[in-house]
Formats: sequence, structure tokens, C-alpha cells
Amino acid sequence: MNKKNLWETVLAQVQLNVSPANFATWFKNTEIVSQDDEALVVSVPNSFVKEWLENKYQRNILRILHSAGLKVKKIDFTISKATPKTKEVNFSSLPLETEQLQLDVFKRNRKTGLNPRYAFENFVVGGFNELAHAAATAVSREPGQLYNPLFLYGSVGLGKTHLLQAIGNEVNKNFPEKETRYIPAERLTSEIITSIRNGTIEKIKKDYHAADVLIVDDVQFLAGKEKTQEEFFHIFNSLYQKNKQIILSSDRPPKSIPALAQRLRSRFEGGMIADISFPDLETRIAILKTKAQEKDLDITQEICEFLANNIQTNIRELEGALNRILLYQKIRNQHLDIDKIKALVKEFTVSSQGKITPKKIIQIVAEFYDLKENDIISPSRKREIVRPRQVAMYLLRTKLQSSYPFIARKFGGKDHTTAIYACRRVTEELNENEELKKNIDLIKMRFMNI
Ligand code: ADP
Ligand code: MG
Repeated sequence: MNKKNLWETVLAQVQLNVSPANFATWFKNTEIVSQDDEALVVSVPNSFVKEWLENKYQRNILRILHSAGLKVKKIDFTISKATPKTKEVNFSSLPLETEQLQLDVFKRNRKTGLNPRYAFENFVVGGFNELAHAAATAVSREPGQLYNPLFLYGSVGLGKTHLLQAIGNEVNKNFPEKETRYIPAERLTSEIITSIRNGTIEKIKKDYHAADVLIVDDVQFLAGKEKTQEEFFHIFNSLYQKNKQIILSSDRPPKSIPALAQRLRSRFEGGMIADISFPDLETRIAILKTKAQEKDLDITQEICEFLANNIQTNIRELEGALNRILLYQKIRNQHLDIDKIKALVKEFTVSSQGKITPKKIIQIVAEFYDLKENDIISPSRKREIVRPRQVAMYLLRTKLQSSYPFIARKFGGKDHTTAIYACRRVTEELNENEELKKNIDLIKMRFMNI
């Protein structure tokens, strides 16, 4: 395997665990300069990136290399004199065999934000995503006519972005005259904030008002961003009134997004809401087979079943395991037997599926409700904090069987009767409060992904 291919495949692995924005920031214009048993030398564009990669990513990269059977001891990052300007072109001229590993962020169309890799043709449908898929295809045939907005939600790594992008690509194909725009909510937020600061907000607004199909991914990131919500509300209304299609995704339903203005929430709820749950075994196998075919990798039924049985709740991870096998086979130039694969996957799942600890629970609950961990363990009596705290206590009790005094200690040394009260309260309310039940289910889903 040559240096370029090796780096491509390593990056394909890294990419699975970092956000696209981060990935582009830190890994654009990097490449392997040389490689021997001792060290891998990687050139980077500047000292800022060098320092960051050394501190934050070095270990991860080493781990990927080691698990692929390479015995490199360290990675030296050096600053390249000339930034290779042709980098993006290089990606598209990669040999066919690694084509599927080409890096998403660099393939995005600058104007539409769409990546042609995501299509309906390579999206596997099963009971878990049937409704979302049906709604998505319908909307792509008649944008603006059927469900507006279309709101898809589901846990991480289950195909929301894939579906959203597939709609965009399909619309482009069927209606080339229509302006389609895909944007992650995080990027929309920073665009809006920057443009307000620079006085270019009118231009941005005009841009969005011109869209025929606007796709905003991961709108849970709008939580608490008041200014962005306000601007987005106006964009939304203007498009909606003109029968322009709006498509949104989130990791939870609109009513569970904290700090979302009521008027925006009711807009989000005004069209069609479809959820994506977890794929069953059969579908996981089908997905693996599709992916293996895409990557031109032959895997046996036995291996397929093994992977599908061991990675259940996240399609991205399923794909990650497959990439790992591919990487290994490439470097070693040999096929893997099932034992080797078991070992590889075990490491993969052990490193990504951490144990649930009290700290993790508090962290996940805080994140879910858009609070800081310290808020949850603080003695605050504010309503918006008391409920999440009760939920966290309840989860400690039910997930980890923690004792009440233990729970009380974890939450800033409260009296253990507070913990008893919290758990009882949540247990009772679960029977009658649909929203609470939904939220706790969603939080539990997140545990499956640690
Ligand atoms: P999400 O946006 O929900 O976090 P993604 O859309 O990024 O998830 O999906 C993660 C990975 O899994 C992507 O590579 C995507 O292509 C793949 N994937 C998800 N669902 C399916 C599916 N039903 N069929 C084929 N591939 C899928
Ligand atoms: Mg996504």
C-alpha cells in the first residue's frame, strides 16, 4: 500500500469519530511524507495544526495504525513549506479501489452542500426507517407539495444525514432548475452570527430566501441560540409561504429540543414527523453487504453475521468496523479469518463502547437538556434544572442500581431522601407523562452509543 492510500484509509477511520467541521479544520492538506518502522512523518500546513494533531489526535492515529498491524512507534508532524493546492483534485483522482473511502468533507459541492455519495440507491430500507424513507422519497418527487416541513429524527449514526442528502441529490436530478441547499444547523448558526457581526446578514437572508429546497441537518444545535432561531424563523416563514420545501433533522422530536422558541417548535411540528429507530439483525446484515459491495470487499456470511450481531445500535460503527477490516487487508495484503476479525472488532467495540458510569450518566443527561454537568449536581432549585437532575438520579438508580446515599453523594452531598424522592417522582410520572417517557427513552438510546 502506498503512502497516499495508507493516509486515505487512516483518515477514513478518523473521520468516523470527529465532526465534519473539525475534520476539515485539522486534516485538510495533510499527507504522509515518509514511513519506516520507527516513525510515520506527516506533513501539516502550519504550526497550529501541528500542535493540535500532536496533542489531540496522535494517539488515535497510532491506535488505528496498530490495529491494522503496522508497528510504527510514533508520528512526527512536520510543517510543509508549500501547501499542496491540488489536494482536492487529488482526492477525486484516487484509484477506484479506494473511491469509497474518499473523504466526505472534501467532496461536498460548495454551492449546494450536497455530497453525491448519499443516494436513495445505496440506502437500505427496513422496518426501522421505513416511514422516514417513504416520506423522504415522496418529498424528493414533489418538493413543496406534500409534507412541509419534513422533520426526521433518530439517534446518532442511523442515517439521518444520508436521507437528507439523498433527498437533495434526487431533487437536483429531477428538477435541475431548483435551488437546493443543504446545511448543518451548526454551520447555519455560525454563518448567521458572523454575518450579523459583519453586517452581511441581508445578503445571507437573500441567499436563503432564494432556495427552493432548504435542508437543515441536526437542528437540535439551535437549542439556546436565540438570535439564530429568530433569523431562521423568518427564513422558514418566507420559504413556507412560497411553498418551498423545508427538510429538517434532529436527534430528537421538536418538543424535546430544549430552549427552542415556541413559535419555531410549532413550525417544526406543522408538517410530517418521522422517526428512525434501530435496525434489526437482518437489516444490519443487508447494510453490511451493501457497504462491502460498495467498497469492493468480499466478506463471508459468517463475518457479516458476526459484525451484525456485535454492533447493533449504530450504522456508522458498523461501517467503521468494515473499514477497519478493509484497512487491515490492504496493509497486510491478505484476507482475514474470522478469529482475526473477532479480535479486531472486539478492540473496536471495546474502545468505542465505554462502560456506563455515574459520571457518564450525568454528562449525557446534562448534554441532553443543554445544561452543564455542574448545573445538574449543583443545589439549584430552578425548575429547568430540578427535572433533569431528577432524571439523572433516576437513571443512576435504575441503570446502575446505585444506593440512595451514593446517589446523594454524587449530587453534591444532598440528603439521601432527596434521591428517594426524585426516583419515586420520576417513576410515578413516567406512567402519565408521555414527553418525559420519550425523553428518557432518547437518553437511554444515547447510552447505547457510548
Ligand atoms: P446520522 O446523520 O443519523 O448520524 P448518517 O446519515 O451520517 O447518520 O449515517 C452514518 C453512516 O451510516 C453513513 O455512512 C451512512 O451512509 C450509513 N447509513 C445509515 N443508514 C443507512 C442505511 N439505511 N443504508 C445504508 N447506509 C446507511
Ligand atoms: Mg448526521
